[in-house]
Order: sequence, then structure tokens, then C-alpha cells
Amino acid sequence: MIILKDPARLQQYLHKEKFKHVEIAFVPTMGALHEGHLALIQQAIAPNRLVVCSIFVNPTQFNDHNDFLRYPITLEADIALLEKSGCQLLFLPGVNDLYPGGTSALEQYDLGYLETLLEGAFRPGHFQGVCQVMSRLLQAVSPHLLFMGRKDYQQCMVVNRLLQLTGSQTQLIACPTVREADGLALSSRNRRLSSADRQKAPAIYEALRQIRNHLQAGSLTGLKKTAITSLEQNGFTVDYVEIADAHTLMPQENWNGQQPLVALVAAFLGPVRLIDNEQLNS
Ligand code: AMP
Repeated sequence: MIILKDPARLQQYLHKEKFKHVEIAFVPTMGALHEGHLALIQQAIAPNRLVVCSIFVNPTQFNDHNDFLRYPITLEADIALLEKSGCQLLFLPGVNDLYPGGTSALEQYDLGYLETLLEGAFRPGHFQGVCQVMSRLLQAVSPHLLFMGRKDYQQCMVVNRLLQLTGSQTQLIACPTVREADGLALSSRNRRLSSADRQKAPAIYEALRQIRNHLQAGSLTGLKKTAITSLEQNGFTVDYVEIADAHTLMPQENWNGQQPLVALVAAFLGPVRLIDNEQLNS
């Protein structure tokens, strides 16, 4: 596996590959890799394709500085996993490589209502940071295909919006969430759960499954309330439980029995904030 740090060298290298008609598939990550990341790489691998993964813990997307400081870094183990995974190129920039002019006064993107809902509302500035880093990564890699996880459902929508805003030709492929056997969605942040909290953590997926199993036409308020109560009983502090239109992400109070829906949860277990979601009827 080739490891490159400098965006200009990466661009040069990939330019030659594109000239040979190799398709570029890109998997951006913040490292502390797990099976969820590796599944994206597996889905990206195909004949005549070069799979590029990036590891960069982007400071501009952390609305909570302590969350940034505590973000797990396991670079040696990550490189070993990537070597085995079939990833051919690791882009490993530093902050100065991606933000040569510093990180203050960066560009802002018009994300419309997407930025005012759910993660946008609870993590002010987060999606601006996501767009700031993704625009730089996409400029450096300029991939044909971009593989991201539906675990970060709203992020996929925001990145699609960014691709639209920038007139990019890149196609986003949103991949299914990989879970532990007990239902907990894999996440780099799971490493920070105490063993007692790790036992409680599957309640988040259980709450989503309860919503899916009890979905019926009419009011959705009771389903959301029940999910919040069961999470609180399991020791979570809930940011939100929401049921939204699966295409627009607009929160819904009632269901007509047909509209495609997604249920989304964000909740803290101790200091660790977990998010998850489940498409309900598609
Ligand atoms: P992160 O390193 O957390 O920024 O995640 C990098 C990419 O991996 C994003 O596209 C995530 O949505 C995706 N990802 C994270 N966890 C999972 C998971 N459990 N299943 C599938 N994809 C995931």
C-alpha cells in the first residue's frame, strides 16, 4: 500500500492512474478503523479500480473540543488493517496539508434546512466542518466513486448536497451499517465506553427496532416517546429520537402508511455520544 501525505503528490499520482482509465474509489475516514470502515473498502474493491482511503481527524467538524482531544488514534493498527484489506493507497495528510492557511475563517456552505435539523441542531458547525474537509479531500482525490456509511445518515445527505453545490461528477454510494452481534453499530467512539456502558449500548438499536416493529399509520408521537423512555431507563441521556422522511429528513408527526421513513437517535452514555438510525419501511 502506498502512503502519501502531500495532496499535490496524491493528485499527481492519481492523475496518472486516471490517464490509464483506472477508476478511483475513495473511502474517507477519521481512523481508529473497525469492521464498518473495512466493509466500505470491501464494497469499493472492483477490477480496474484503485481504492484510496484517507485518515484525517478533522478539527473543524468537532463542535466539542474535548471530543476532538479524546478522539481515538490508532495509526499503526489502522495501517496494518488497511494493508490486509486490499486498500491500495492511504492518504494521510496533516492539518497543515489540508488547511495551509489555517482553520479560522474557512468557507461556509449553503446547506439549507439540513443544517438546522438533528445533528445539525445539536452539533452547531459540525456539517460546515464536514464540508470543509470533504471539499479538500475530494479536490485532492477527485474520485469517480465515494463510499460512505449510512450509519451517518444525515452526513450522507450533506455530502450529496456538497457534491451538488460544487458541481462534482463524483457518485456517492451509501453503504449499510455494520453492527456487533448484539446490534450496536460499530463506531470508533465505542472504544471509549466503559464496560458497564458497553453492556447498555445495544439498547439504542433495540429502541430503533421497536419503532420499526410497531410502526403503523397515524400519529408517530407515542413511538418516539416510548423510545426516549426506554433509552432513559437504560441510562442514556437522549439528544433526540426522531422519525423523518427517508428522502428529505423532514421530521414527521404522522405517517400515511406509505411515505418512506427513517428513525434516528442520538444519545449519550456517560461522556460518549452515540448515533444510529434505521430505515423503517424501505
Ligand atoms: P468515521 O471514521 O467515523 O468518520 O467514518 C468514516 C466512514 O465510515 C463514514 O462514511 C462512516 O459513515 C462510515 N462508518 C462508520 N461506522 C460505520 C458502520 N458501523 N457501518 C458502516 N459504515 C460506517
